[in-house]
Amino acid sequence: MNNLPVGMSLALSSIWLELGIPHELLQSRNLPLFEEASELIDVETALDGRVWQLTPAAAAAWQAMQAAALCDGIVLKIASAYRASARQVELIQKKIDSGICINDILQVLAPPGCSEHHTGRAVDIFEPGGPVVTEEFETTPAFAWLSRHAGEFGFTLSFPRDNQYGYVYEPWHWCFSERV
Ligand SMILES: [Zn+2]
Repeated sequence: MNNLPVGMSLALSSIWLELGIPHELLQSRNLPLFEEASELIDVETALDGRVWQLTPAAAAAWQAMQAAALCDGIVLKIASAYRASARQVELIQKKIDSGICINDILQVLAPPGCSEHHTGRAVDIFEPGGPVVTEEFETTPAFAWLSRHAGEFGFTLSFPRDNQYGYVYEPWHWCFSERV
């Protein structure tokens, strides 16, 4: 195979083929490929015992943001953080198995290799008792707080309405980037 998209490994390419994801998607939706985080630290344990991890810098920023929110009476919790691309494959396969077509799946889940969650810098945020990973998160005090303050901690909303990548609006998904 000599026509792999730039930056795509053979392993990733065959995973895409298996899931029925066309290589052209990378270009047609202008999707970036992300490296998997190399250094991760435990940040939070979910009620079901899963441990959420972030890179050390993102973890420090998250904890500072969480503490600041708490001072304003807002509780921020993690619904998802670092995810390996193998996990992304499982999530997509589960939806395929339940009969959803791949084009619809790829509006809500990034193809393996293309999720910001691979970087260990992205968090899906919820408020205890509030909506989890649904658009209604937009109506919560947590979202209002994040809209005002997340930038101060280096977090930005990755997928606003009508984003260029063709993902649904994700008010819960915020990504940390190191400020220069
Ligand atoms: Zn997310």
